[in-house]
Amino acid sequence: MSTNPMVKCTVDQCTHYMPGEQCMAAKISIYNDETKGESQSAADTQCKAFHHRKTAGDIVGAFHNSNIGGMVSAAFLEGTQVTPVVECFVNNCSHWNTGNVCHASQIEVNGSNASKSLDTDCETFEER
Ligand code: SF4
Ligand code: SF4
Repeated sequence: MSTNPMVKCTVDQCTHYMPGEQCMAAKISIYNDETKGESQSAADTQCKAFHHRKTAGDIVGAFHNSNIGGMVSAAFLEGTQVTPVVECFVNNCSHWNTGNVCHASQIEVNGSNASKSLDTDCETFEER
C-alpha cells in the first residue's frame, strides 16, 4: 500500500503549481504554523515548499509554450499522474503517521493569492 497521498493544489501563485491543480515539486513538507505549534484547523497548516512566482504569468506562459500541461493531462488520463512525496509534521492530524507520513489517499492544498507559505493550508487536515 502506498503511504503517499496524491496532491491536489489550487495555489496558482506557487512556482510548483501546474494547471490542472497539480504540484510539480519533487517533495513538499506540511508544517504547523510555528507561532501556534499545533494545528487546530486547516488554516494553521502550511505548505513549506511554496515558492512565490515572481511575475504573474511567466511560469504559466512557459508551460503553455512547451505544452507540459497537455502532457501531464495525458499522463493523468492513463492513471500515472505525477505527485510529490509528502512529508508532514502536523502530528495531531488524524491522517498523520509515525515517520512524518500522511496516510490520506489525497490531500488538497489551498491558498488563494498566497504570497508566503503561511498563506497556504492543507485542507485535508482533521484534528485527531
Ligand atoms: S503550494 Fe505546495 S502543494 Fe501547492 S504547488 Fe506549491 S509546493 Fe506544490
Ligand atoms: S492531511 Fe494531515 S497528515 Fe496529511 S498532509 Fe495534511 S495535515 Fe499532514
